[in-house]
Amino acid sequence: MRIAILSQNSRLYSTKRLVEAGREKGHVVRVINPAKCYMNITDNNPLVYYKGKPLKGFNAIIPRIGASITFYACAVLRQFEMMGVYTLNNSDSIITARDKLKSFQIMSKSGVSLPTTGFANSPHDRDHVIELCGGPPLVLKLHQGAQGKGVVLAETQKSAESVIDAFRSMYVNILIQEYISGCNGADIRCFVVGDKVIAKMKREPKEGDFRSNLHSGGTASKIEITKEEEGIAVKASKTMGLNVSGVDIMRSSKGPVVLEVNSSPGLEGIENITKIDIASRIMEFIENSYA
Ligand code: ADP
Repeated sequence: MRIAILSQNSRLYSTKRLVEAGREKGHVVRVINPAKCYMNITDNNPLVYYKGKPLKGFNAIIPRIGASITFYACAVLRQFEMMGVYTLNNSDSIITARDKLKSFQIMSKSGVSLPTTGFANSPHDRDHVIELCGGPPLVLKLHQGAQGKGVVLAETQKSAESVIDAFRSMYVNILIQEYISGCNGADIRCFVVGDKVIAKMKREPKEGDFRSNLHSGGTASKIEITKEEEGIAVKASKTMGLNVSGVDIMRSSKGPVVLEVNSSPGLEGIENITKIDIASRIMEFIENSYA
């Protein structure tokens, strides 16, 4: 097959591993920077161009899209979709997964267990939303944050009120969420390919933090998960319309809850911890889907 990886940096671990795994399986793999692509959106012959030439003849596209370039890279990906090229994750699902509010709304309809989450516009409704989410401690989140940035813990009523008011005064929308206690901030990253969790790891926050993201200094280790946890991770991924995703779940007193579904999950931490060749599993999924 001829496979293109849409990635801004061919030296990134995940991009390199996918290139390696694809070439080992005999595919022609090329890394294409979506920021350097441009498009001709015309009737009957939509095309993506790169350095003056049309990008034709690809059988599959693997999007590895960073948060800062979501809009443009998804437009490029959508253009490939218009050309009839198979894309591992589709542009609409990636855009939805980047929006925490929309993701939660969609998952709640499908019965995926979530932390109780509130969203309000008027400052008059602030106190009721705090109450609906069970009161402090609360987690306050920017709806488009990533890597733990834009996630704040408000331990008291006063701090919740002042953080919400501060964001509102800057016209920034935030989600107000029940704080999941009892697991010391640990969450489980489930790497989903198709309808299976092919790898998982436990992530724990560093001393003094409540966020377990590896980018915020969290540490990873091996973990076993239950059938119920596996089921909820796969359901979340499928509900979001993703073939490949990183689903973060927490063990709450009411059972596993989904915190986030990541549409371009990193391979480095989880391959190193589990020693599972995730890149090859992704390639095999593409081969089977394309066949
Ligand atoms: P991001 O997309 O920025 O990674 P998340 O919503 O996944 O944002 O939150 C980052 C981290 O903060 C999580 O991995 C988890 O450790 C912690 N966290 C997020 N939401 C909650 C919550 N409701 N209760 C407890 N901890 C949370």
